[in-house]
Amino acid sequence: MSTILVVGANRGIGLEICRRLAGRGENVIAACRRSNDELDALGVRVVEDVEVVDDKSVAALAKKLDGTTLDWLVHNAGILTHETIDDLDFSRIVRQFEVNAVGPLRVVHALLGNLKSGSKVGIVSSRVGSLADNESGGIYGYRASKAAVNMIGVNLAHDLRARDIAVALLHPGLVATDMTGGRGIEPSEAARGLIARMDELEMKISGTFWHAEGYQLPW
Ligand code: NDP
Repeated sequence: MSTILVVGANRGIGLEICRRLAGRGENVIAACRRSNDELDALGVRVVEDVEVVDDKSVAALAKKLDGTTLDWLVHNAGILTHETIDDLDFSRIVRQFEVNAVGPLRVVHALLGNLKSGSKVGIVSSRVGSLADNESGGIYGYRASKAAVNMIGVNLAHDLRARDIAVALLHPGLVATDMTGGRGIEPSEAARGLIARMDELEMKISGTFWHAEGYQLPW
């Protein structure tokens, strides 16, 4: 049984990751801002008040997990807003950087003491953060913040290599959640693929970017 922290666990893909992992008997710690009946019904440990843009909140999470070794840390929390060249809102762009890029770095950094040799870090990024794959433009803040978290993930892979901690950037596919207005595959299907990628993650592929379906994505 592995101990797995999922950050952004109360709905969408994160909730389904928790459901699947709990279903196969893992020790799941579900971190979120606010829980709900669906998450509570999983019977896993829930840690609330985890706001990834807030130092104190993330420090409080680290304190609650003091002494707990995490086999996996899955950072799933993220936001999407839709800026276009004709409708740019810079505060929303900055907010996406704070949540999608700085948030995962803040969380991983705060929990470094919980990661040991053999631990794995999965950061849910997005294919739209790929520069090579950008064929349509738009969604300025989201694309740029996910590109930034890809860089952060590669940096972490380098910096954590000596500690034998592997890091992966993960794309779930287009998934039918609140974020997409219900367009895409079932969140449970995305969760299945993301968990498979985490199962397969090892040091020799640390710092790479994966589609949940099992193929590597270009930067
Ligand atoms: P949802 O909007 O359904 O869920 C987003 C999750 O992130 C919620 O648990 C939410 O919590 C949490 N969250 C957002 N902001 C914060 C914050 N500041 N602090 C803590 N938690 C926060 O989105 P999805 O499930 O679709 O997305 C999950 C991840 O997958 C995201 O990183 C997203 O970018 C990525 N992704 C999704 C795709 C899709 O097609 N759905 C495609 C590519 C990537 P709360 O309820 O408190 O807001």
